[in-house]
Amino acid sequence: MSAPPNEPLHPSLPNGLRLGAPFGITLRLHWSFLLLGAWLGLSTFGQTGSVTALLSFFLLGAIVFGSVALHEYGHALTARRYGIGTREITLLPIGGIAQLEGSPANPRHEFWIALAGPAVNLALVVIVLALYPVVEGDPSSPPGPGESVLGFALYVNLFMGLFNLLPALPMDGGRILRALLALRMPALRATQISATIARLLAAAMMGYGLIQGQLMLAVIGGFVWITAGAEKHRMELEAEMRRRVRRTRADPPLNTRPAEDWENPDRDDPLKNARVVGRGATPRR
Ligand SMILES: [Zn+2]
Repeated sequence: MSAPPNEPLHPSLPNGLRLGAPFGITLRLHWSFLLLGAWLGLSTFGQTGSVTALLSFFLLGAIVFGSVALHEYGHALTARRYGIGTREITLLPIGGIAQLEGSPANPRHEFWIALAGPAVNLALVVIVLALYPVVEGDPSSPPGPGESVLGFALYVNLFMGLFNLLPALPMDGGRILRALLALRMPALRATQISATIARLLAAAMMGYGLIQGQLMLAVIGGFVWITAGAEKHRMELEAEMRRRVRRTRADPPLNTRPAEDWENPDRDDPLKNARVVGRGATPRR
């Protein structure tokens, strides 16, 4: 899955291995991803004692890694189209994080940025399906290495594309839902509705994950539960701050008003102020 595109990583989160900067955006492999990879690789080798099994493990790992990275570049490059830069892309075991430098203010932009990640995975599914006949052998014999690798790439990208479209904020589907709601209602209301739906889905993921012994699904459910609540809380705080700023501007305390305000009663007249600002802003020829 992919983590929220517009939430910065926690400043205390240690950096990972820098792999390069495709499209001018730094790509990092987080240490937890490397540790998990090394541990799973060693246990595979320990159980099978086979170098071929170890190499296949790393090949399949590279497919997962590449699919997550391309998903995140889909978000980052679409955000760039709308003037929002990306600090870096970090790959974690639960998914990737593209650290965007700002949040899209326009719901239409948020819609396209969120959709771009899963769209990359679904486009990869189509490419893999188109390549499949090239490596496909005799249907009666067991699948060859080419077929197995493409089959795995197909499964990974189909899962990644569809799972991220679940309408559970902060996942991509939740951002798409919020953007669609925000076209018809205030952004705060859209976030509150999306966060409630996200928490229902998160509770279902945690419950199902724990009952079925799918620990990763339960962890993702916990992550969605916490992050959806935090996102709702952040939007409520922002709305409250804006309300307070508006109230302060509309009604400045008497003792802070400059003395000239009392001498010039037109100063607070918005129409007169608008005319002054308008004239000043007109470029002179
Ligand atoms: Zn995503």
